[in-house]
Amino acid sequence: MRVLVIGAGPAGARCAERLAEGGARVTLAGAEPALPYDRVSLGRVLAGEAEAPALITHGPARLRALGIRFLPATRIVALDRAARVARDARGAALPYNRAVIATGSEAVRLPLPGAALPGVFLYRSIADVHAMRRAASGGARAVVVGGGLLGLEAAASLSRLGARVTVVHAAGHPMERQLDAEAGALLARELGATRRLRFEMPAVTAAIEGAAQAEAVVLADGRRIPCDLVVMAVGVRPSVALAREAGLVVRRGIAVDAAMRSSDPAILAIGECAEHEGEVCGLVAPALAMAEAAAATLRGAAAGYAKRPDAAALKVAGVAVWSAGEIAPAAAEAVTLSDEEAGLHRRLWLREGRLVGAVLYGDTADAPFYLDLLASGRPVAPFRAGLAFARAEAA
Ligand SMILES: Cc1cc2nc3c(=O)[nH]c(=O)nc-3n(C[C@H](O)[C@H](O)[C@H](O)COP(=O)(O)OP(=O)(O)OC[C@H]3O[C@@H](n4cnc5c(N)ncnc54)[C@H](O)[C@@H]3O)c2cc1C
Repeated sequence: MRVLVIGAGPAGARCAERLAEGGARVTLAGAEPALPYDRVSLGRVLAGEAEAPALITHGPARLRALGIRFLPATRIVALDRAARVARDARGAALPYNRAVIATGSEAVRLPLPGAALPGVFLYRSIADVHAMRRAASGGARAVVVGGGLLGLEAAASLSRLGARVTVVHAAGHPMERQLDAEAGALLARELGATRRLRFEMPAVTAAIEGAAQAEAVVLADGRRIPCDLVVMAVGVRPSVALAREAGLVVRRGIAVDAAMRSSDPAILAIGECAEHEGEVCGLVAPALAMAEAAAATLRGAAAGYAKRPDAAALKVAGVAVWSAGEIAPAAAEAVTLSDEEAGLHRRLWLREGRLVGAVLYGDTADAPFYLDLLASGRPVAPFRAGLAFARAEAA
């Protein structure tokens, strides 16, 4: 069987590997010029702690050993579904028996005045990181727009490079989708103390000013933050243009079933571009699980993709923060264990006697215990008194 995998991010590379191991003839076409690399670890390159080659997951020798034909800098621009032929941006035709779309997501550039000025960066690819690193060296002033997981990682890495960093965030505390207000406040305090990050929040970015290059971020209240570079870390959107133009069913992502089949049974979709049961994933673990499920489908196995609760951790050295499940949901009880002075905070949300969400700050050693409880949906009544201490044996 001839399989074309479109997109050589973590999901595409993993799926290509599994298919090649199973004996398929695999072509892996990636728009980026780089070999497949670990996108999750880009912050280490941004911080100057690693160089790009250290992130490569599938080098030439491995691809050769697997028998994968890898086409870098190859953007697939059209799919002729009737003929089962893909076409790349240079016009080359790539025939397939089955295609797997793994085009991931792209970072959102806010449509603000000045957003396209030189010196305004996105944070998604190794090329973005190299460009940012050049701009940020030598004590530059950086403004990171967005205080979510990615924005904070970018800010901490830039600070490590020697930049003076301000984070502009629209919500009242950072990582508001993963953290409650108390954990968010502890995080802002710790990043201010250990990484010298300044926070402007809640604050809305209105424009980026500059003649030939970004020179200042202007807030909605009129304040101006002078800068040498701006990083926009305000979210991602699934890359679905190819699938949409090919006439596949696309909602936010490419609609797939548990076998990862799109509305065309000869085409599967995996990773951040896929939508399963109304949800699009934004983390690498589900993207890789989808890759495994798609490879199993194409090998004729019946395994399927089963969603697990998402868990998020901030990859900033020395900062222990973890969360999973629903954060501050309506109609849920909260159990809190907090010692602000010691920088410790733990909040758990329960509904109908079961754990539905958890935030751990300062000490994340018990994360596997809570993730297991979330995934199993086991009632907590038998050990409720020990729940906040992660003690399942407590009466
Ligand atoms: C800086 C950073 C840090 C992160 N940290 C974490 C973390 O700590 N934990 C976590 O779980 N997740 C993290 N993520 C998210 C994680 O990287 C993604 O969930 C993961 O990369 C998704 O994999 P994917 O293969 O679906 O998509 P992507 O990684 O987006 O890969 C898609 C690839 O397809 C290519 N492509 C797109 N269109 C085409 C086309 N038409 N033809 C050919 N190729 C195409 C793209 O260029 C890209 O290379 C982080 C992301 C970033 C940017």
